[in-house]
Amino acid sequence: MKILLVFDFDNTIIDDNSDTWIVQCAPDQKLPIELQDSYQKGFWTEFMGRVFKYLGNEGVGEDEMKRTMLSMPFTPGVVELFNFIRENKDKFDCIIISDSNSVFIDWILEAADFHDVFDNVFTNPAAFDSNGHLTVENYHAHSCDRCPKNLCKNVVLVEFVDKQLKQGVNYTQIVYVGDGGNDLCPVTFLKKDDIAMPRKGYTLHKTLSKMSQNLQPVESSVVIWSSGVEIISHLQSLIKE
Ligand SMILES: [Mg+2]
Ligand SMILES: [Zn+2]
Repeated sequence: MKILLVFDFDNTIIDDNSDTWIVQCAPDQKLPIELQDSYQKGFWTEFMGRVFKYLGNEGVGEDEMKRTMLSMPFTPGVVELFNFIRENKDKFDCIIISDSNSVFIDWILEAADFHDVFDNVFTNPAAFDSNGHLTVENYHAHSCDRCPKNLCKNVVLVEFVDKQLKQGVNYTQIVYVGDGGNDLCPVTFLKKDDIAMPRKGYTLHKTLSKMSQNLQPVESSVVIWSSGVEIISHLQSLIKE
């Protein structure tokens, strides 16, 4: 019996947002106003598609984008955390569900040699086209009205857990580590034995605090963290039980 660890990527594994970090590659490190203003709520992937096209047209190549991505820091304690998970891989399965994209996440996991820590990465598929432009697609289509059009993290999580169950893998509990508004949907579906781990001071933490003040707490327990080292201590207490 294993514990399933679910990680968000931006502002959880890495200490910034990959989609805004990449703008450092743009001339003057900023986007033209009309491109910046073209974002429509719920259509982030389409917006990033236009940003990548712009960067490509400005002559920003794959190497430069990769170098920029790799200059992004990990969140404090996360390197230690992933080493701990690797050492205890018999007790944990580990997945990423992210609204970033497959190219950025691959670069970062590969450079830090963390691919083996993760069983699956669910994110918007991306690739460089024949013009050298990065292109990105929606992860899936779904009918959850609380989530952006391209990704409902709860749908992904439920599908993964069901698929694992069909293959005889039944998790004793789910630990969900995230920071953002789009982590709320999966967290509200966690069960009593599961653990939501919102990053201290970020949107998910604030929203969960408000919900509990309004006497609408989530069913799972909630454990706040600032550093990956605190997550290690909590995981250690879980596997000791
Ligand atoms: Mg995030
Ligand atoms: Zn949703």
